Parts: sequence; structure tokens; C-alpha cells
Amino acid sequence: MSSPDPMVIVGGGQCGARAAHALRENGWDGAITLLGDEGLLPYERPPLSKSVLLGQKTAAQCAIYDEAFYREQRIELRVDVPVAAIDRAQRKVALASGEAISYHRLLIATGAEPRPFDVPGSALPGVHALRAVPDAHAISGELRQGRRIAVIGAGFIGLEIAAAAVVRGCEVTVLEAAPRALMRAVPEAVAACLIDRHRQMGVDVRFSVQVDCFTGEARVTGVKLADGSVVPCDAVVVGVGVTPRIALAQAAGLDIDNGIAVDGILRTSDPHIYAAGDVCSFPHPQTGHRIRLECWKNAEDQARAVARNMLGHDEVYSAVPWFWSDQYDMTIQIAGIPPLGTTTVVRETGAASQIFFALDADGALVGASGVGRAGEIARDVRIAQSLVAQRACIEPALLADREMKLRSLLVAEAQ
Ligand SMILES: Cc1cc2nc3c(=O)[nH]c(=O)nc-3n(C[C@H](O)[C@H](O)[C@H](O)COP(=O)(O)OP(=O)(O)OC[C@H]3O[C@@H](n4cnc5c(N)ncnc54)[C@H](O)[C@@H]3O)c2cc1C
Repeated sequence: MSSPDPMVIVGGGQCGARAAHALRENGWDGAITLLGDEGLLPYERPPLSKSVLLGQKTAAQCAIYDEAFYREQRIELRVDVPVAAIDRAQRKVALASGEAISYHRLLIATGAEPRPFDVPGSALPGVHALRAVPDAHAISGELRQGRRIAVIGAGFIGLEIAAAAVVRGCEVTVLEAAPRALMRAVPEAVAACLIDRHRQMGVDVRFSVQVDCFTGEARVTGVKLADGSVVPCDAVVVGVGVTPRIALAQAAGLDIDNGIAVDGILRTSDPHIYAAGDVCSFPHPQTGHRIRLECWKNAEDQARAVARNMLGHDEVYSAVPWFWSDQYDMTIQIAGIPPLGTTTVVRETGAASQIFFALDADGALVGASGVGRAGEIARDVRIAQSLVAQRACIEPALLADREMKLRSLLVAEAQ
């Protein structure tokens, strides 16, 4: 399979790099051009808030593939060429340098960026957000013994940063506007387990607090709250979520709906242009409506699926979501979409490990959230992912019984 024009991918991140590889694996013999704007080989972001902040891994070790790989696969990788515009009529992308590149099919995998936190003082030196390698280096430089770090937002990234900071000897305060952590992502009990652990480690976690502004002149010295109190600090890390990078798609007139709106085969409103990863929203069979996911596994799975669809396979994307986060020696793994559940069933899988299964009103398994030691939850959460895909209806008593092998339920359901 080939054409005189290349397959062009905008966005040299997780999804872009994997999609380029998958195009080759699926038989595309023509040119592939992967365009990034970070000046680095495409890399994995999850370690940035974990092992990189803990000094256990360097940013260079996070590269998805080494340089030789792109050469061998005949993928033209250009990492310092922001794409400035898409000319749909001519089927070309315009680079910021003025150069234009024609495309046979175009994939937009421009990811997401930290949601701005617009309070007075947010531009002060010492106020950070974490998305890319330079951010991780800057934050890592702040995490010195005895320094006071304020983390805004008790989402996954905020909590991972808090964990790394406290392990590195910082005094950490987490400030969250909502009444609890991870409000939309996990059941309250999972969030409570995590927060208990943070508090045991000495993190001061505060809920239902509103940030009024950041104080300081030459650099940040505190976080002023709406009640007038000030949390003194030496640095701030803001983790209040991300927004999809849709500017290119929007300027090109593609449909937008909480990200670039794609159909079931990850194709945009232009049949020659696809989108995948954090940037796109797609109709999800499990929910019956359009969702957008911001997680590693989705970027990986959609990369493979979209590559096949760019080659004409037209397969509907229906993978059950899976997500993980690591904090201290605990892991959280989530399969499916737990908030779709109306009933929760708990399985104790170890002394400090539990899985919360979510069943919907019909009794079908729609999600599983495990918290604890990886070895005590990973297998069951993985099997739960398959059970969710089958819409398996399982007796709550069986789910709760740790002696009952989930795999056997899967086999029974498949028969
Ligand atoms: C610190 C951190 C920790 C994370 N931890 C976890 C975790 O534990 N578990 C989990 O499941 N997920 C985690 N994630 C989320 C996961 O990394 C993302 O879901 C994944 O990176 C999405 O891949 P993507 O390719 O869609 O986007 P990205 O990886 O963001 O890649 C998009 C790329 O496109 C580039 N780009 C944007 N616009 C242009 C343009 N105009 N021209 C050229 N290039 C452009 C961007 O600079 C970027 O390089 C984490 C993310 C971060 C930031």
C-alpha cells in the first residue's frame, strides 16, 4: 500500500509515534512524516510525574523509540516544526517555517495542554504546571529537602507530584476546590484510601478551598485562599486538568465537540483527516455518547486503530478504557467507566488492596477501580476490563469473593 503523498501525522507524542509505527506494521509502504514541536524524540509522559521527579529515570530514558528506529522504519521524524495550518482543499499542512507538505491522509494527534489557572500571580516565577520534559526538570529543581511545595488540585497528576515531593523531603500542601479528591474518576472509597496514605506520609491535603491568588514579588511566596488565609510556599505546581489542543483543527473548520469530534472509526468531519489520543472525542459504545479520554492506554490503542483505519480498514474503536496511577508504593488501576455504575461491590484482594466493582442498573459490570499493591489488583482489574467489554452480569456475591477466580466468570460468560 502506498501513494505518492505521505501519511502525515501532526503531533510527535505517544499517539503520533505509535501510529507512525502501526502504519508500517499494517503494510503502508509509502512515506510517513511525523511532525512534532518539542525538539525531542517522542516520549512517554507518565514517568514525568513519577520516576523522573524521584530521580529514578532520566527524560532521555522515556523516549518511545530511539532515533535509529525511525530511520529503519523509514519514518521521517521532524521534531521542531510546529504545524501552523491545515489546507484541506489542497490537502497540505503548512509548517511555521512556511514549508508546505502534502498528505494522502492526515492524523492530528496534538494531545492536550495544562488548563490555565488564571488567578493573580499565576505568571510568577516558581509557579509551574507539568506536561512536558522541561516542566519536569523545572519542578524537579524545586523539590529540595525542607522546601514548601503547594500543589493546586488533587487530581492524579497533582497527587503524583505531591507523593514525589514528600518522598524528596519537601513539606507539601495540596489545595483542592472540590470536597474530595478524584471526584469524577473513582469511587469515594478509592480516593479516601489514597488521601489517607498521603496524610500518613505528612502531606497536608485540604478540600473545599478556593485559591484567591498567588502572593510574592520576584517569585511566588504563598497561596492566598478565599478565606483570607495564606499558605506560605517556595513553589507551586498547578494540576487542574488539561484541555485538548484543537487550535489547528478549529482553524481548519473541522467539527469540534470537547476536542476534535471524530466518528466511530476516528475520522474527523473531513474524510481525509483523522484524530486520536487526548485531542479527540469519540462516540463510545459503552456509554452510548461521546467521550474524550486523557490516558496512556487510550493513546496507544487509538494509535493502532487509527493507523488501520487510515489504511481503509474502517474498524469501529470500542476498547474498554484502562488507566493507572502510581503514588508511593500504591497503584490505582481503573478499567471501564466506574461512574456509570449504580451499585458498588468491594473485593478485598490483599491486606491493603481492594477492588471496587461498579454495576449498572441492569446488573452489568461497567467499571472496576483497584487500589493497593500492583501485584494484588492488576490481574483482576485486567480481567474486569474483558468482563466490561462483554457487558457481563455477575452476582455481586461472586465479585466480592476473592476466592472466586474472575477469569472463570469470563469463560462462563463467553460460552
Ligand atoms: C505528567 C503526566 C503524567 C501522566 N501519567 C499518566 C498515567 O500515570 N497513566 C495514564 O494512563 N496516563 C498518564 N498521562 C497521560 C498520557 O501521558 C497522555 O494521555 C498521552 O501522552 C496522550 O498522548 P497524545 O499523543 O494524545 O498526546 P501528547 O503525548 O500530549 O502528544 C501530543 C504532541 O503533539 C505536539 N503538538 C501539539 N500541537 C502541535 C503542532 N501544531 N505541531 C506539531 N506538534 C504539535 C505536542 O507538543 C506533543 O508533543 C500522564 C500525562 C502527563 C503529562
